[in-house]
This record gives sequence, C-alpha cells and structure tokens, in this order.
Amino acid sequence: MNGLFEPTDAALVPRFAGVASFMRLPVVTDPALVDVALVGVPFDGGTTNRPGTRHGPREIRNQSSLMRRINANGVAPYDTLRVADLGDSPVNPIDLLDSLAKIEGFFTGIAAAGAIPITAGGDHLITLPILRALAAKAPVGLIHFDAHSDTNDKYFGDNPYTHGSPFRRAVEEGLLDPKRCVQIGIRGTYYHPTDFDFARAAGFRIITMDEVMDRGITEVMVETRLIIGADPVYVSFDIDSLDPAIAVGTGTPEIGGFTAREAQRMLRSLTGLNIIGADVVEVSPPFDPSGLTALTGATMMFELLCAIAGGKN
Ligand code: MN
Ligand code: MN
Repeated sequence: MNGLFEPTDAALVPRFAGVASFMRLPVVTDPALVDVALVGVPFDGGTTNRPGTRHGPREIRNQSSLMRRINANGVAPYDTLRVADLGDSPVNPIDLLDSLAKIEGFFTGIAAAGAIPITAGGDHLITLPILRALAAKAPVGLIHFDAHSDTNDKYFGDNPYTHGSPFRRAVEEGLLDPKRCVQIGIRGTYYHPTDFDFARAAGFRIITMDEVMDRGITEVMVETRLIIGADPVYVSFDIDSLDPAIAVGTGTPEIGGFTAREAQRMLRSLTGLNIIGADVVEVSPPFDPSGLTALTGATMMFELLCAIAGGKN
C-alpha cells in the first residue's frame, strides 16, 4: 500500500448512494495519514447579515459527489497526494470566542501533522483561526478572491470578530505578510470612503473587478504570482467573488462578479505556488435552492486541490 486514497468508484457505487464525504473520499481522522485534508467548518457566528453558512460543509459534501477524479486539464491529484475527508472542526454555535479557539485547535493538529487543509466554510471569519494555526511560526502571504476586502474594524459596538474583519485581525496579529497579500475581484459598495485605507496602508494589493476587466485574468494572475513569490501562501476563496447569477446561495451577494470559468482559470493559474492551505467560504445552502452554489463551491475545492497537486494546469 502506498497510502493513497481513492474516491468511491462511481462504476461500482452510484454517485447518489452511500454516505456523503468530500469528493467521495474516505473519512480519515488522523491528519498524519494525509497530505491534503478536506475539512468542514460549520460555523456562521461571524455573519453580520444573512446567515446559513453553518450548513455549507454538509451540502458541499453532498454536491461534491459530482466531482470525478481528474480535472479538465488532466491533473489527477489522487495519483500523487494522499487526500481524505478529515471531518468537521468542532465549533460552538452559541459562543463565538470558544468556536475560534476550537477551530484553531483543530487546525493546529492538522498543521502539526504536516497536512495541507482545504476547508469548506462556514463564514469568512473561520479563516482567522485557521491562519492562527497555520501561520503560528511566521506570517504567510494571502491570495483572497472576494467581492469584499473583509478588512473592516468593529461591528455592533466594539466587536472585533466578524466575517467582515478577518484579514484586518490577521494583519494585526502578525499572521499575514501584508506586502504579500493580494485581493482579487473587490467590488462591493462601501460603508465609508475610508473602508480600504487599512488594507492599502498595510500594503495589500487590491485588484478591483474593474481592474480585472480592464487588464484581463492572465495579466492579473501573472502579477499576483510575482507578488507572492516562492514563500508560503494561503488561498481564501469567498464564493461571493462569483456573480450571484452563478452563486446565489450566499449571505452577501454582489452583482458584477466572476463567472465560474474565470474562477476556475484563476485557481488553475496558482499551480506551483507554495500553498499551505486554502478555503472556500460563504456558501449558504438556505439561499441555494438548486444546490448550484454548493456544487460550485465543491468544484472550487477540487480546483484548489489540483493547483496544489500541480501538473498540467
Ligand atoms: Mn469574505
Ligand atoms: Mn464577500
């Protein structure tokens, strides 16, 4: 045995049958047995408006049964990487701070085992405790696809922890190297003219949707790779970076977003970077009556896995 895991063969067990796991892979509890851990974080306590992303991991698992084992460019991640479903991080739905501690602890175990997590959220606040675990020793770079910068400060008085603030907290805590942070697809309306001052002053490269349209995806991703370089980088994909015509099942939809094929092309262009972890967040099944947003989220997880596996992307 080489320790590799395979999805359940759809020629033997049909895709609609069996217990749902990410990509129909085995459920493994020991992170030491995997190179890449597919993980759920069913937490939406950081949501400031429409909730429901606590249901994301389960529905993404369900829709991920449509994934096959090789991507459109011939990348076959299960041939070279040990990949399995590591289950869900523990959370406490009535205690935000306890949830942050539990999530950090779960990912600390994954990092200690040397596995790379690809996580299904959950709202975007979950990226903060994940970064606390993965960047505990040294700050990392960030490639962040989102309609929003998520670098706001406080909400509802003096609350520092929401899905609108994870990357500001991560900079303050020394988890991110802000000169190696790139935000792509930003386009939401502002609260205030100063909304982006923190990110820009810190050194983030903010590439708005208008700039992506003007310059094109290929050029934008070449610049992103130059900024990130060879050092460790975390990739965070907010499903609301996509147009709500494609991914309506999310709490904070913003019109004018990416198409699914543009997102696939951007994620494929990350191949060869030193990716230490990735997530797909903000899939909210209660707003996703067709299941298409969860399917899209599952597909982005698979593309991230293929970018980590490398090959012909
Ligand atoms: Mn976000
Ligand atoms: Mn967003």
